Amino acid sequence: MPLTKAEASLLSRRTGMAVEDFTWKNNGILTLLNDENTRACVFLLTSSSDVNAEGMCSVYEVRPKGCRTYPNVLNHNDEAILDEGCPHRAQFPEPTEEDSIVLLNLEEQLLHEE
Ligand code: SF4
Repeated sequence: MPLTKAEASLLSRRTGMAVEDFTWKNNGILTLLNDENTRACVFLLTSSSDVNAEGMCSVYEVRPKGCRTYPNVLNHNDEAILDEGCPHRAQFPEPTEEDSIVLLNLEEQLLHEE
């Protein structure tokens, strides 16, 4: 999951972890690290690598905007769609044009961070 520097700083302050300990750069974009055992986000409280396993976000109140808008993702036409990789996507409403704009703004912000 991509995140802004400001979001990473907030997570660092709340968790006491260094930003480098929960992020990596994916093509220059700051991204949340996955746990090497569960293969899920390092902040997901789970003991299994099964995507259907139960889990809880340990930083839910301060989770990045990309987490708040998921499972909406942009397709190649810059339209918001439900991520086909999300096993719970049937529980979410179809994204609207407004959702596309929210994601495009977020993408713009992420691409222009140093
Ligand atoms: S919602 Fe929480 S556990 Fe899920 S990717 Fe975001 S920070 Fe990680």
